[in-house]
Amino acid sequence: MSVIEDNIREIRGNIAEAATKSGRSPSEIRLMAVTKTVDDDRILEAIGAGVDIMGENYIQEAKRKIEKMDVDVKWHMIGHLQSNKAKYAVRLFDMVHSVDRISLAAELDKRSASAGRVTNILVEVNVSGEESKNGVGLNEAINLVREVSLFDNLSIRGLMTMPPWFDDPEDARPYFVALRELRDKIIVEDMKGVEMRELSMGMSGDYGVAVEEGATIVRIGTAIFGARVY
Ligand SMILES: *Cc1c(COP(=O)(O)O)cnc(C)c1O
Repeated sequence: MSVIEDNIREIRGNIAEAATKSGRSPSEIRLMAVTKTVDDDRILEAIGAGVDIMGENYIQEAKRKIEKMDVDVKWHMIGHLQSNKAKYAVRLFDMVHSVDRISLAAELDKRSASAGRVTNILVEVNVSGEESKNGVGLNEAINLVREVSLFDNLSIRGLMTMPPWFDDPEDARPYFVALRELRDKIIVEDMKGVEMRELSMGMSGDYGVAVEEGATIVRIGTAIFGARVY
């Protein structure tokens, strides 16, 4: 068994354990392999081990891989997206996790309309309010969801966040709790066309805690592929 297969098996075990511990079914949680900087052969190993969602951060890198590899998996955009790249994002990805402003949503909607499709999106929330982080502020998030819900060619599936980096994953817990509570608040508002099925949260260092707090998609790079070489 390869290192990548081994890592994936261990991660799936940890996800199942965290789910069970918090009274959830492990089948509620999907594992995304974050493949930025990872070469095609290693991505194919992850696919061989049963991972069927790949997360990419950069349009150009993703475009090359998606077109060349031609594999039957879902590709999700998790990186910061410039509005002028929206037309590529619509074509390449099954879901965009990083919608954090109305101008980007408007561009994605327009490009989805001309491509004759509806694009699945998550609204990215900057729970910590750190300047260096992308995402809409916690207090502005409901308004953004409401505005984005008016676009016919976007389907809002949930929320995404990236907490600050901590040595101890327990320190990330309040940020995951805050995202879940925001989701519950949005559900109560019962906005037309808004589904709050997905919570995209948890990375290599903290996915166990994220699963305990309700994650439905965990985004894992390093713990699958090892340290990234840029
Ligand atoms: C790179 C990245 C990840 C994966 O991080 P790891 O710590 O390597 O698991 C997850 N989410 C986003 C948005 C990323 O940019």
